[in-house]
Amino acid sequence: MVEVLDLKFKELITSEEIQARVDDISDKLNERFADKKPIFLGILNGSFLFIADIFKKLSIPCEVSFLKIHSYQNTESTGKMKELIGLNQPIEGRHVVILEDIVDTGRTLDFLMKTLEIHNPASISVATLLHKPEAMQVPIKLDYVGFEIQNQFVVGYGLDYNGYGRNSSSILIKVDD
Ligand code: 5GP
Ligand code: MG
Ligand code: MG
Repeated sequence: MVEVLDLKFKELITSEEIQARVDDISDKLNERFADKKPIFLGILNGSFLFIADIFKKLSIPCEVSFLKIHSYQNTESTGKMKELIGLNQPIEGRHVVILEDIVDTGRTLDFLMKTLEIHNPASISVATLLHKPEAMQVPIKLDYVGFEIQNQFVVGYGLDYNGYGRNSSSILIKVDD
């Protein structure tokens, strides 16, 4: 059992299992984008270790850039508004690969893809370390998925609980009391 702030977690995916999937996904990316000079867009903060581990395994000509999605509560009935921070590089005509930590409802990714499509990239692909299929509300094609997990809160390998827990090398899942 591992405590992060007031919550208890247990190991779900070991560091070795993560690295094996990272290797596998990198192999596929190397093959698929060999002659495409892709640009990898890492979505901060949660993906920073996934981005770094994937990027080290890429042997093709490619670039990396980092985006942050700022969500805030609107006082209007429109609910949660989102804003993209950091797209300071032209992506028109480029093959874009989004690197995400986790796809939960799919809303973040849906917003991201719609925003990126406005800039006319040649293609948009998605690689996510984790996916919670049961939580998905907006159907989005995920090209590369590290692990499908149950609909329960996880931390570790970059993912946080109120800022903490990112420095676990394995993925930890919340346990009751
Ligand atoms: P979505 O928009 O797909 O519902 O949520 C995506 C974002 O919510 C992720 O990028 C991540 O920041 C956060 N998130 C969703 N599920 C989890 C989880 O189990 N643990 C952590 N730490 N963050 C999560
Ligand atoms: Mg994320
Ligand atoms: Mg977070």
